[in-house]
Amino acid sequence: MQNSKQQRMRYKNMLSDQFYIIAGPCSVEDKMQLQQCVEVFKNYDNVIALRGGAFKPRTNPDSFQGLGATGINLLETIKEEYHIKIVSEITSESDLELFKNVDIIQIGARNMQNFALLKKVARLQKPIILKRGFGNTIDELLASAQYISKEGNEQIILCERGIRTFNTHLRYTLDLGIIPVLKQRCNYQVIVDPSHAAGDHQFVIPLAKAAKAVGADGIIIEVHPNPPQALSDSAQQLNLLEFNKLEEELNSIK
Ligand code: PEP
Ligand code: MN
Repeated sequence: MQNSKQQRMRYKNMLSDQFYIIAGPCSVEDKMQLQQCVEVFKNYDNVIALRGGAFKPRTNPDSFQGLGATGINLLETIKEEYHIKIVSEITSESDLELFKNVDIIQIGARNMQNFALLKKVARLQKPIILKRGFGNTIDELLASAQYISKEGNEQIILCERGIRTFNTHLRYTLDLGIIPVLKQRCNYQVIVDPSHAAGDHQFVIPLAKAAKAVGADGIIIEVHPNPPQALSDSAQQLNLLEFNKLEEELNSIK
């Protein structure tokens, strides 16, 4: 096994020293949807990976649950065709084998404290995006990260995606204050998910700019070629024109 310093170097190189973007649909729906996204993303060097949910942890059991293994296969096809890294969320230990070609594994907010899952995923020795649970403190987030590092995996990317507060004007309250505090308290990469925090595409770009300004290493963002038709989170996904606008507006933040 590599020592932790080597590991940290490896995953830093795999990501980027520049502010980076992980983008793609909330849920993988079909090949064309992914192709349309990647055709735009490939114009931008700062897009380091395509995201897409195949196993969706939906609040309502009647909501679209994702394509499962078929969704992962579609991401793999795009990875081969476009040489782009892929990111997807794992929700169950029983799916570990399916994720062997997924480059970065996401642990969703609802599983931040699923310690058995964290330990098993950590052992895959891949970078892990660990999303903060919407009711969890910074100490709980860092304790969950420790479950991963104790398995000998330091390739941790912490993600602020909004928490529950008394506010109702956005889907969640984006806790941008946690970014500089995390940067002080740990050496991990820290990214922001403005899409799930906002819950509304109109507010995603300003939150993304704020994330860059406050010192995040990057953002993970939901993008769909036709958001009104999306099978999940349709209100918050950026269309491809809005994605171009996001790229342009981020340039104004140094
Ligand atoms: C997601 O990224 O698709 C997702 C479900 O996010 P979260 O776990 O932050 O709700
Ligand atoms: Mn989503």
